[in-house]
Amino acid sequence: MPRHTWYAGFGDVRRGLARGLCRSRRGTTACRRVRMTEESGLSPALAAIAAGLPHAASPRLDVRLSPPHLKPWRDGNVLPGVWSFGAPVDGPHVAVIGLVHGNEIGGAVAMDRWLRQGLRPARGRLSLVFANLTAFERFDRDDPTASRFVDEDMNRLWDIDTLESGRRSCELRRARELRPFLDTVDVLLDLHSMLWPSDPLMLAGQSARGQALGLALGIPPLVVADQGHEAGARLIDYAPFIAPAGAARAVLVEAGSHWEQATVATMDAAASRLLHLLGAIDPAEPILPPRYLPADAPPRLVEVTRTVTARTPGFVFMRPFRGGAVVKQRNTVIALDGEEEIRTPHDDCVPVMPSLRTMPGHTAVRLARFVPERP
Ligand SMILES: [Zn+2]
Repeated sequence: MPRHTWYAGFGDVRRGLARGLCRSRRGTTACRRVRMTEESGLSPALAAIAAGLPHAASPRLDVRLSPPHLKPWRDGNVLPGVWSFGAPVDGPHVAVIGLVHGNEIGGAVAMDRWLRQGLRPARGRLSLVFANLTAFERFDRDDPTASRFVDEDMNRLWDIDTLESGRRSCELRRARELRPFLDTVDVLLDLHSMLWPSDPLMLAGQSARGQALGLALGIPPLVVADQGHEAGARLIDYAPFIAPAGAARAVLVEAGSHWEQATVATMDAAASRLLHLLGAIDPAEPILPPRYLPADAPPRLVEVTRTVTARTPGFVFMRPFRGGAVVKQRNTVIALDGEEEIRTPHDDCVPVMPSLRTMPGHTAVRLARFVPERP
């Protein structure tokens, strides 16, 4: 039976469930989840994930990008998967890194094109880094989230204690291999994409230098000052990029949905803005989008005021909040965690990367408020 037919059948089951279960004021978790996914406007595959359907019974996620052919770039010219080009004129060392998450192939699509077309710096040094090629090589269109990593999340390893511990994994081996190279980088742009619907955004962490860089780039315009994850430090949180005495800077672009061409276009635009801002490429460089590409909106900084971690298996959002879409009213119930209500702590609350299906102990959403512009 075709998968979509099965899913349409499931819709009937869900509606039946909803009628049968939604009798109490709040209903059960299943009921809330059913109601949310029916009203969601999510793709059938995301709706199925949000509803907790097992993978085998879910429609396929849409993959509208083809994984690039990276064999020519595998060996690198300074390290495996690392291409680094110097210009005759002094300037900063700028690095763009993709595939920190092996399934987020948009960054690899962009960098593959730049390399094929011969992008070179006019000033300083430009490096392009394919971070987790081992995970990327496992990318499977039929199960495209599975290749995020091999052993562990490569974007939770960047505190010094972890890097220097005796612990071993595929991702730690690669992080340790990249570390001396990353120590030479002045400005880092880390390219990522998202599963759940969200406006593109830039994560700048706690460093004032990173936040200022994000606002100066302005593509994407929403810049998030956040505290990272309890589970471990991200690459943008790596000591050289945040040390008060240092000067190196890093930002992470969440450029849009995984596997969409528009996400690659946002990555191209963000990289172009960065390289032009730093004077790292020729003003008329034809490989990247034009220097004065307009941003969608003026840049705005938001700071995370609350990180919501799911405590129960029954965590469910009241509706499928879109990342970046402002919730106007303070005290709005946005989710239930078991019987606990999760409310917006202030007016004009910005949900950052809500995960519409989450497990106990995982971040369900971060809530942020706009930071007034300094005069
Ligand atoms: Zn990512």
